[in-house]
Order: sequence, then structure tokens, then C-alpha cells
Amino acid sequence: MILKELRFDVMRANKEIVRLGLVGREEASLTLGNVSGIDKSRSCVAIKPSGVPYPSLTPQDVVVVNIQGYPLEGARKPSVDTPIHLEIYRNFKDVCAIVHAHANYSSSFAQAGVPIDCLGTTHADYFYGPIPVVPVLKKELVEKDYEANLGKAIVETFKKNNINPLEVPACLLQHHGLFAWGRTLSEALRNAVALEKVAEMNFITLGLNSKIKPIPSYLHDKHYLRKHGGKAYYGQ
Ligand SMILES: [Zn+2]
Repeated sequence: MILKELRFDVMRANKEIVRLGLVGREEASLTLGNVSGIDKSRSCVAIKPSGVPYPSLTPQDVVVVNIQGYPLEGARKPSVDTPIHLEIYRNFKDVCAIVHAHANYSSSFAQAGVPIDCLGTTHADYFYGPIPVVPVLKKELVEKDYEANLGKAIVETFKKNNINPLEVPACLLQHHGLFAWGRTLSEALRNAVALEKVAEMNFITLGLNSKIKPIPSYLHDKHYLRKHGGKAYYGQ
């Protein structure tokens, strides 16, 4: 079996999104969502197979494709969302792992087409700016090469708005769900959990005060920069 370690880690990360509540325990059998990881050479991607329930996943089920999407090993078909993952890997060079899920709160913001503004320091600890919404695709882009076009729309949203994908490692697909990523599988999982947490907190906050403004930029900077970058001083 090629890429044994990566396939094991990707299998475990896929099971983790259920345990972390990003899929919904009772929905684990629905197979929504997927996690992938890219190998160090950036030429192969290991990803969840299409339509296989999380509890029964084994490393052998995890499919390895090359960066063009050609299957290299695995008896299963790769996730239908594979072209989205590949587009992200091809364009965001430091991203090594990607999580896609339909978690309740972030997907509700996605469905409503509402970006997640930074209303508190929890958000600022993980994301250096609001979580953008990738607009719904036009009809012709849905009808042909849908998933590749979704990936292109994610990349375009970040480039057009000058967002660094490592500083804001997540987005919302309008009418759909969340994508989060990182330099490792655990970082991508952590960012997906943080995203769902801030989405839930924003939902509650906006219910208490719909006119609340994003936190001041100096407070946002302080919280983000003490954990990230050259001047970080948080942690051991
Ligand atoms: Zn989806």
C-alpha cells in the first residue's frame, strides 16, 4: 500500500470530524463531508472515498490520487469533492490538509450567504479577518465541471480579496458548507472546529445585539499576532 502513513492519518482525521461534532453523530452514516492530506512532494493526495460511512473507514479505503486527480491506488472511488481539494492544493502552496463539512452553524452562515465577522477574541485567536463567503456558482459552472469550478471559486475569492489563506484558513461555500485547511491535518481539524465555534458564538451574539460591530482592529491584531507569526509569544 503506497503512502501508508498518510492514508492512516487521513482515515483518522475523517473519523475525527465525526467525533468533533462537525458531521453530527447521528449523521455519520450520511457520509457528508471529507478530509484530505497531501504528501510532502505535493504530487499525491489521500482523500476519503465517495459515499463510505465514517465508522467503517479503513486506511485501504482512503484513495490516493495524483495532483491532476488520476487515481493511483485504492479500490474505492475518491470523494466527488476531490477536484475542490486539488484546486486548493495547486494554488495554496502551504496548505497540506483540507476539511470539508456541513457543520450546523457555519453551514447556516453559508446557506444565508453571511460572512462570519470577527466579533470576539476567540475568532481573532485563529483567523486574521472575517471568514469569506464564496458566492454561489452560475448555472453553467454548476452543470459542467461543478467541483473543479467550486475549487476555482474558492481560490478566486481569496485572490480577489487579497486574503492570505494561511491567515484566514477557512471559507464558506454559499448554500453549502465549510472548507477549512492547515499546514497539517491536526491544524486543519483545529481550524474547522474553531470556525464552527465562532459561527455558533456569532449566531448567539447577533441574536443578542444585531447591530454589534466587529472588534477593533488593534484588539484583533493583538490576539492574532500573539499566537501567529514572528512575534508570537503565546504557548510554551
Ligand atoms: Zn459538501
